Amino acid sequence: MLDIHKFPCLNDNYGYLVHEPTSGQTVAIDTPDAQKYLAEAAAKGWTITAIWNTHWHPDHAGGNLAIKEATGCEIIGPAGEAAKIPGLDRAVKEGDVVDLGPLKARVLDVPGHTLGHIAYVLEDAAAAFVGDSVFALGCGRVFEGTMDMMWNSLSKIKALPPKTRLFCAHEYTESNARFAITIEPDNAALQDYVAWVKERRAEGLSTVPPVLEKELATNPFLRADVPALQAAMGHPGDTVATFAEIRGRKDRF
Ligand code: ZN
Ligand code: FE
Repeated sequence: MLDIHKFPCLNDNYGYLVHEPTSGQTVAIDTPDAQKYLAEAAAKGWTITAIWNTHWHPDHAGGNLAIKEATGCEIIGPAGEAAKIPGLDRAVKEGDVVDLGPLKARVLDVPGHTLGHIAYVLEDAAAAFVGDSVFALGCGRVFEGTMDMMWNSLSKIKALPPKTRLFCAHEYTESNARFAITIEPDNAALQDYVAWVKERRAEGLSTVPPVLEKELATNPFLRADVPALQAAMGHPGDTVATFAEIRGRKDRF
């Protein structure tokens, strides 16, 4: 029923068009490349009726105005950075609900990468559009927020239903996998995942969207609360310090 169309954009972004057939509505999740989005929509016979932005970075909101001009769509985006979202019509924050035909997306505040970053959760479709908050085997760089804030945001994602598919905005999985295995070399689920990622990428195939359940068992950034990992990172009993240590190591990797 719900049709989530994924396509590569720019260097390593993913574009998503979400089409709800009973209403005929089509949502653009972020707008890395307006022309690409319009062409992909046209090829499907869809018209973009709304844009849902996750955060203000140009590889996420840079195509807003051109798509709005071409389609007259409504632009929905984060209240916390409303002034930085081109063409914003409706600012949303945690607790707000955004309609997609009969479906309802719940908005989560997930600051850290940027201060206003939000995610859209379509629980009925087991889908979350998470932007640059979490990636397959990774998480976003903490540019504007604090480590504490980012961990709190990731905790909200960890608490979603385990079958939730995480529609993240970049294909970073191969380099994330190379890093993750340095953090937990003995994690068997991670070893399998790393091998799978290598195969997929060697064939030029996508590794996105990951399923939350698998990330909980393998993604080091979601595992900063695991006692054995905390001990290995030198911060027993301290989740935020463990998260900060892992994030710092990745930044230097
Ligand atoms: Zn970003
Ligand atoms: Fe990005």
